[in-house]
Amino acid sequence: MASNSLTPKERLAIGRVHMPEQEAMERARNFTEVNLGLEEAVAIREAQRCLQCKNPVCIQGCPVNVRIPEFLNKVAEGDFASAAAILKQTNALPAVCGRVCPQEVQCESKCVRGVKSEPVAVGYLERFVADWAMQHEADATKSTAEGGCATKTMGAVAAASSSHASKPAPTGFHVLVVGAGPGGLTAAGELARMGHDVTIFEALHAPGGVLRYGIPEFRLPKRIVDAEIRQLEQLGVKIECNVIVGKTITLPEILREFDACFIANGAGLPVFMNVPGENLNGVYSANEFLTRVNLMGAYISGPGRTPIIRGKNVVVIGGGNVAMDSVRTARRLGAEHAMIFYRRTEDEMPARVEEIKHAKEEGVEFHLLEAPLEVLGSDDGWVKGISMQKMALGEPDASGRRRPVPIEGSEHVVECDVVVVAVGTRANPLLTATAPELKVNKWGYIEADATGQTSIPGVYAGGDIVRGSATVILAMGDGKVAAANIDKYLKTKGRRA
Ligand SMILES: Cc1cc2nc3c(=O)[nH]c(=O)nc-3n(C[C@H](O)[C@H](O)[C@H](O)COP(=O)(O)OP(=O)(O)OC[C@H]3O[C@@H](n4cnc5c(N)ncnc54)[C@H](O)[C@@H]3O)c2cc1C
Repeated sequence: MASNSLTPKERLAIGRVHMPEQEAMERARNFTEVNLGLEEAVAIREAQRCLQCKNPVCIQGCPVNVRIPEFLNKVAEGDFASAAAILKQTNALPAVCGRVCPQEVQCESKCVRGVKSEPVAVGYLERFVADWAMQHEADATKSTAEGGCATKTMGAVAAASSSHASKPAPTGFHVLVVGAGPGGLTAAGELARMGHDVTIFEALHAPGGVLRYGIPEFRLPKRIVDAEIRQLEQLGVKIECNVIVGKTITLPEILREFDACFIANGAGLPVFMNVPGENLNGVYSANEFLTRVNLMGAYISGPGRTPIIRGKNVVVIGGGNVAMDSVRTARRLGAEHAMIFYRRTEDEMPARVEEIKHAKEEGVEFHLLEAPLEVLGSDDGWVKGISMQKMALGEPDASGRRRPVPIEGSEHVVECDVVVVAVGTRANPLLTATAPELKVNKWGYIEADATGQTSIPGVYAGGDIVRGSATVILAMGDGKVAAANIDKYLKTKGRRA
């Protein structure tokens, strides 16, 4: 075990770790993960930076309330198995969150070390612990399967993970979860841990939601998503893919079979720019572009693969994470000019700072204060350019951000062969249209109170379908809250007659 008996002064003297990365120009041509993860000794050193505050405000910054100082203390001691056990008690998808959560505006933004220097790298350490546990659980399973004798460390991991995966006595209640994204998966795991029989209906042919079809392999390898989903299946969660609620089965039909329901079907309906030329060949919604690549493996060459247009000059419209994922994907597919066009400045960009930095390092070209007017096409209907107009920033709008104002006479044409539209998504009405008693707001998002309860008793909702496009950890937080309240509801209601 490492020593964690450092004085505050000694802790304060340690500088924040740097995440090792694949070299920028090399990674701009491959789909393997950009961030390489921390070595054990480096992780221990970083965890020793935690001051173990009496009032750990970092926990308040985490929507699922991970017991951050406790797990960091175990990392600092070199007891990674115990760190993993603590982490998994509150977070069903730690290896995912360690990679994609915007820690800089959540737990790390609250870290007191951030006041005078840099906060503790909680996200990097979460990833380290989750990956360590995944690797050692796999080794322990392999060793047992081969009839080998597990080491002491493997035994500790197996014990930690079995407490995570232990099955309680069945309650006899059946709960249906709509959508196998982070919100649905978290709720399902929590409910299964309470002894309820849980089934997820997922519209696509593979579970994971945005983690599977949206966030690219180079940020979130799909083996990580698979491994975390496998742990939920070991808890007894059943996942039925290719079931579209609202088409294959309706909500009223579900409520005749199940005792309660949690809806977490996301907000994946693409919003378009509403400019002429948007239906030309070579214009993709970011959703379609990323789904083809991530879910359908279009980046892997070979016969029978899902096709994708590999543009030489690719224009991506937008400034959020989705735009960054799209433009970095286009670059990896071979674009010589992978370009972001955003109508405000970099200060207003909603994308994570790390994504913007990585995109720039990979050669992505940023064109700020520009908005699209028209997509231009060839006679045979293919994209050949896009007409853009320069903007200036005016007064703040309803979002509090300064409104982009067009500059007359600044119109110009950018040559391109692919345009990816990443200007947002909204609620898909498929499910709600077939459930008239389910109240939605004027944008079509499901209305749910702080407990996740909707207008129908026993039906709860959370994640993007309630909040609008948000984050993985907020969807997971909603899943946890709803699961606790579904449990209360079932216990109050009693068994179906
Ligand atoms: C490209 C991209 C990158 C992002 N990057 C980040 C990031 O780095 N960090 C971060 O925190 N957040 C990020 N986000 C946002 C984050 O992924 C979402 O906020 C989060 O996934 C929402 O979770 P959810 O469970 O509510 O919905 P989703 O993840 O959208 O999952 C919903 C699931 O429901 C299924 N479904 C939909 N309709 C039906 C139906 N009728 N019947 C059955 N199943 C249905 C869908 O197929 C899907 O699997 C990103 C989003 C995108 C699109």
